[in-house]
Amino acid sequence: MSGASLSPVLKQATPVVVDHAAGSWIHGTDGRRYLDFTTGIGVTSTGHCHPDVVAAAQEQCTKIIHAQYTTVMHQPLLRLTERLGDFLPDGIDSVFYANSGSEAVEAAVRLARMATGRQYIVTVQRGFHGRTVAAASLTTAGTKFSAGFGPLMSGVATTPFPDALRLGMTTDDAVDHALKEFDYLLATRLSPSELAAVVIEPFLGDGGYLAVPPAYLAGLRERTARHGALLVLDEVQAGVGRTGRFWGHQHTDGLVPDVIITAKGIASGFPISAIAAPEAIMAKAWPGSQGGTYGGNAVAAAAGVATLDVIEREGLVENSRVRGAELLDGLRSGLAGIDQICDIRGTGLMLAVEFGDPTANAGGPRAIEAARLASSVQQACIDEDLLTLTCGPTGSIVRLIPALVVTADEV
Ligand code: PLP
Repeated sequence: MSGASLSPVLKQATPVVVDHAAGSWIHGTDGRRYLDFTTGIGVTSTGHCHPDVVAAAQEQCTKIIHAQYTTVMHQPLLRLTERLGDFLPDGIDSVFYANSGSEAVEAAVRLARMATGRQYIVTVQRGFHGRTVAAASLTTAGTKFSAGFGPLMSGVATTPFPDALRLGMTTDDAVDHALKEFDYLLATRLSPSELAAVVIEPFLGDGGYLAVPPAYLAGLRERTARHGALLVLDEVQAGVGRTGRFWGHQHTDGLVPDVIITAKGIASGFPISAIAAPEAIMAKAWPGSQGGTYGGNAVAAAAGVATLDVIEREGLVENSRVRGAELLDGLRSGLAGIDQICDIRGTGLMLAVEFGDPTANAGGPRAIEAARLASSVQQACIDEDLLTLTCGPTGSIVRLIPALVVTADEV
């Protein structure tokens, strides 16, 4: 017996090993208590081990843990579907379940191709959609997510993000520029009649915690509708109250997408994900084309119902808005005048502090120095019992992702 150890790819961003956790706090096996502003990368929305979520999962374990959903349906999934309907836009009335964000992205890509009979998926630069092959094919948030295991899926094209900070433009000009680039892509590299869908996060997550300007989303909505393509919003990180609205796209007035992808915060840490679309679109996927053994697990679904109940009852979407604004104010005043910081931004509880020069070449010495700074700040935070994460194409951004239950004191 030689024993086993964790794969080297499981190298941790922090030295913490959890003993137990509650609310916004993680108690390490080192006897220290950490304020957790990582929340399992935006997953433990109602905080760690919310009593209602724990109770719902425990109770479900005594009834049935697993029934494969195309064989035998279970009540928690029916209840979760009904409950999700309370939060989905009018007309988006059909829901399919998987386990992770990446699987839901795969399901959305498959649905878009089947529903339109077209091949091409357009994604936005710096987007992150996961690590399975289709999801990684849509991901340009950093080379580490896809380099070295190609060839990736064909039929994917990328269009520039309206990145005002890096383009040195006003937001309006950046949007105008990015929409022209999108039109140019459809006029040159692929025909509109080949376009199945545009897939975009309403707030870029791993790509840098950047809000997508509402005018850009509205422009994509108009163009996809005009070309008979779908607008697929990847709300895996921005959804479920993270940005101070239930869905990230609700910051764009009147926007109704064709498909919404959700995961992470929806079940407070239990693995479940979903795509939601109008029944007429969802019905274009034939039985057997979507699904899996574990999708829509009964315990995860029960935790999902409890999570949505807690979010509503405890007013956590509003708490995200209010606490997020306080945290942003505090960061902006507390960190004012530090030369190495180029931007402090956030919407709701999706906040970021960016280091270095945003126009520096990725891979160049200035980008490497900015990433080193972000990483050293993250380490310094750990010394102060605060857990944060880094992100962005070069790792130069420290991101703060508190639980939606975070209190004013904790902020
Ligand atoms: N989409 C977005 C926007 C994400 O942030 C993530 C994960 O961080 C994913 C998809 C992939 O989700 P998962 O890691 O659960 O596969």
